Amino acid sequence: MIRVRALQKVYPGATVALRHIDLEIAAGEFVALIGPSGAGKSSFLRCLNGLIAPTAGEVEMDGEPVTGATGERLRRIRARIGFVFQQFHLLRRLTVLENALIGRLGHVPQGRSLVGWFPVADIARARATLQRVGLGGLWDRRVDTLSGGQQQRVAIARALLQEPRVLLADEPMASLDPALASTVMQLLRRINEEDGITVVTSLHVLELARAYGRRVIGLRDGRVVYDGPPDQLTDAVAAQIFSGAQP
Ligand code: ADP
Repeated sequence: MIRVRALQKVYPGATVALRHIDLEIAAGEFVALIGPSGAGKSSFLRCLNGLIAPTAGEVEMDGEPVTGATGERLRRIRARIGFVFQQFHLLRRLTVLENALIGRLGHVPQGRSLVGWFPVADIARARATLQRVGLGGLWDRRVDTLSGGQQQRVAIARALLQEPRVLLADEPMASLDPALASTVMQLLRRINEEDGITVVTSLHVLELARAYGRRVIGLRDGRVVYDGPPDQLTDAVAAQIFSGAQP
């Protein structure tokens, strides 16, 4: 369960990214976070896992405060939250398998956490996960030789290998062409349904939110302007979220 209370984020220079957000996301939900560029989606996701500190308000993950957590406690909270970035954030010169294994770093004993020193069971698990996301057989390829869609699958496999309870994805399809965008959404839905992992993914394509979201949260100017099922996300509501902005 994710609990967000009076969350506010103001960047230096007085840019207000999040004005006041109150919401709860139950374990096992699949949430599509939509809004135009600059609405605050990325800032919101980053506050959820402590990548950035909010200016005011609180985030709790399974009853534990993320806000204010530091050191070992923050590391422990983060280990339960997978994060998938728009630009993949892979180590380009390493192989598919090596990148995936980075997701296991939180699980290997200290001092054994260099790539190449992973327990055999972790390597088997990484291969099985790569197979599952459709990358079977590509284990030894350097990631910079893969297509964008394949690289995003490596990043998703890496996040899954953390064995997260929550998977946050920041516009994971934004660097991909539209056909691949749906396959990423399908994969996230499968992970949510088969593993029961809570998924919160931001996106700026309304059709994808309507097609795949179970709960849609619409952000505009750092505020929640819609929170409900996709079938009540009418064109009028969509216009409220996106009006005057590039959808
Ligand atoms: P979205 O993900 O919906 O595009 P962001 O959370 O990235 O929205 O941005 C919200 C607002 O905060 C925008 O006005 C953006 O320019 C600003 N912003 C985001 N990151 C920073 C930063 N590191 N420093 C200053 N302003 C930022």
